[in-house]
Amino acid sequence: MKEQTENIPEHYFQRLEAEVRTYHASEDMQLLEKAYRTAALAHADQKRKSGEPFIIHPLQVALILAELHLDKETMAAALLHDTIEDTDISVETIEQEFGKEVLFLVEGVTKLKKTIQFEIEKDKLQRKEASLRKLLLATVEDVRVVIIKLADRLHNMRTLEFQKREKQIEIAEETMEIYVPIAGKLGIFQLKRELEELAFCYLWPKEYQTVQEQLAWRKKEDRKDIEEFIGEIEEMFAQINLRARVGVNYKNSYSIYQKMLTRECVMEEMYDIYSVSVILESFEQCYLAVGYLHNKYNPLPGRFKDFIALPKSNLYQAIHTTLISGQRKTIEVQIRTEEMEKTANIGILNYWKYSVGQSTKLEKMEWLRDILNWQKELEEENFTQFVKSRLSRQDKKIFCLTPHGESIALPYDSIVMDFAYQIHTRIGETIAYAMVNGKKVEPDTVLHNGERVRIVTGQRKKNFPYLWIEKTKTARARSKMLQFNRAQH
Ligand code: MN
Repeated sequence: MKEQTENIPEHYFQRLEAEVRTYHASEDMQLLEKAYRTAALAHADQKRKSGEPFIIHPLQVALILAELHLDKETMAAALLHDTIEDTDISVETIEQEFGKEVLFLVEGVTKLKKTIQFEIEKDKLQRKEASLRKLLLATVEDVRVVIIKLADRLHNMRTLEFQKREKQIEIAEETMEIYVPIAGKLGIFQLKRELEELAFCYLWPKEYQTVQEQLAWRKKEDRKDIEEFIGEIEEMFAQINLRARVGVNYKNSYSIYQKMLTRECVMEEMYDIYSVSVILESFEQCYLAVGYLHNKYNPLPGRFKDFIALPKSNLYQAIHTTLISGQRKTIEVQIRTEEMEKTANIGILNYWKYSVGQSTKLEKMEWLRDILNWQKELEEENFTQFVKSRLSRQDKKIFCLTPHGESIALPYDSIVMDFAYQIHTRIGETIAYAMVNGKKVEPDTVLHNGERVRIVTGQRKKNFPYLWIEKTKTARARSKMLQFNRAQH
């Protein structure tokens, strides 16, 4: 009996190895094996609430990351993620045995946990607007830290049944408020969906149950219509020699529940509860398919969205349209390529191809950069900039502090103007000078990491000097200053 229990973690490790080999054929397992053995030894006397040996938890977290095809440093860090805090292992040992990168990630996860706890407490006290998510994202130096944390949370949610009801609610609430939106921002819908579903189930068990039952009923009701519609379009695509993979996706329970709340409508009347997906080989084919679909069925006005030409900030791409089918029913159709489908599931991870295939990596990155740059001008949020800087580690960032101690992330070599516009457009427009670490400076002064910046405003009537505009490092400051100058004429 004892022997059997001891064997279980071993099985999980074998699964992990097998999973990694599916995408890294020649992957050297030494690092993972060593991380596993070290963590298993360190956690040897600890048990989870479920009674399982503790090491099962880090193994499961690493497995979630392997399913997302992350690199081996991330998985080694996942295996070690609870050792600094909960065991006798020292930071020095991790660095010696696993190197700087793994240590950086493990420490990042440990720090992030503390920041989150601290911010939650502060939030409760000050009832401040939840800037928490932004803060978290801005303070983390490597997006992989956030991804490990998301996987950690997912496994804790999967095993939430072993916690007391009070704790379940607390953890589920935190998941809904912090982790679900972060997963969404990063476009990792595979994680977002499951986190949200589990959190919903623990927060509102009764409502969850109701939605589940009604959903099962709707699926039965819809089946004939869907099959008929899919049959029709498959035939149409076959006639024009378009190879398409057609499927159907139901919305997850939580979004259905929200729809029920906001629209006060019952499930029978919800027309966009599912969508039909059409997956093609190239983006040209996507537009071709839309053309044919609109020719065959009437599209519902105002429901056509081209996220291929205008991707969402989490990189999601597809064409959405709602058609009125032969049965006079409306059906939402989402058209995308295989590659876009992958991005729809794993978001930025699809663009982030670690240490293998350097050249394709760079190509992708350039393309990504273009999208992000373009996006930035359309959006107020500087999140895309964050993604951009995190994707390429050469792109250095600095963090400057507001007088209230909030940290503002800026590109390397940014000037006071970049900082000012990052705070607020009005602050940028009315800037007179700035106090940097208590010293008066001009608005075109270059900022350094960790400096405390206070913007002193006045009344601006003159144009911004072109020299200042040239020195800015953020597209936001640049475009706003140009805009301001144009408006002066
Ligand atoms: Mn953990």
